[in-house]
Amino acid sequence: MAKAVDAAKLPDKLRVRPGARIVLREPAARATHGWRKADAERALERNRHELGALQYRMYAGGHHALLVVLQAMDTAGKDSTIRHVMTAFNPQGCTVHAFKAPNDLERQYDYLWRAHRCVPPRGSIAVFNRSHYEDVLVVRVSQLAPRAVWQRRYRHINEFERLLADCDTRVVKIFLHVSKAEQKRRLEERLEDPKKHWKWDAADLDKRRQWRDYMQAYQAVLTRCSTAHAPWYAVPADRKWFRNFAVSQILLNELRALAPKLPKVELDPDSYRIF
Ligand code: ATP
Ligand code: MG
Repeated sequence: MAKAVDAAKLPDKLRVRPGARIVLREPAARATHGWRKADAERALERNRHELGALQYRMYAGGHHALLVVLQAMDTAGKDSTIRHVMTAFNPQGCTVHAFKAPNDLERQYDYLWRAHRCVPPRGSIAVFNRSHYEDVLVVRVSQLAPRAVWQRRYRHINEFERLLADCDTRVVKIFLHVSKAEQKRRLEERLEDPKKHWKWDAADLDKRRQWRDYMQAYQAVLTRCSTAHAPWYAVPADRKWFRNFAVSQILLNELRALAPKLPKVELDPDSYRIF
């Protein structure tokens, strides 16, 4: 087996270079960059500890915010990534927002309104389980709006994210790349295991039928919306243990780069006596 890529260098391998033309190929979903399961699980555990420590400083410092966008085809594991990785964070400083089809109220506004309402305040982390990108994914594939309408949204989205970046919110976008073959296995598992029946959604099969169109729509997103201020990462997701480790490493590198510091406090402990 090839030598494992250094943990700290892995995010760089998964990051989509701005302007690079991305083609999603099935085998890429199974990549592990030389990592073995047991090592990745240990690394995930270590990463979770450091993520917790960095979040503590970020929360106390109150300067930066972190927005994590998760997008994927069904069964790629958005929910389980949140469960395995985001549990590193103190719930007090982290919120998760799931974006479904817009409701009556949301439809009265521009499509970015509901996303903007959920961005994290300074010191906090927000995770988007699906996001404003649905407005150039499902909307494009299912033709919920004319081409001319969704075409101009890539620009809006880049500018929206630029605004967030300019205001100290780091935007990190993660595409969990599952292959069509692996999705088949996971859907079959859901049918076979009564404990997973609650996850079954016949509508997922419609999306599966539109697989090629979705891959095209995702390619457009990755190609057009990965910027220096708000990068996309394409994470191989066919192996759950690699997916979890890779996401933890991406967040770790991103938080390390923010280098959050405890606030400077002028406090002379000797001047107080607790009665
Ligand atoms: P689960 O893992 O629980 O299935 P999910 O994210 O697939 O989670 P669902 O309730 O099954 O949640 O699906 C939400 C649906 O809402 C998705 O099919 C998604 O494409 C759709 N959706 C999200 N945003 C929009 C939007 N802006 N316009 C239309 N549909 C949207
Ligand atoms: Mg679903």
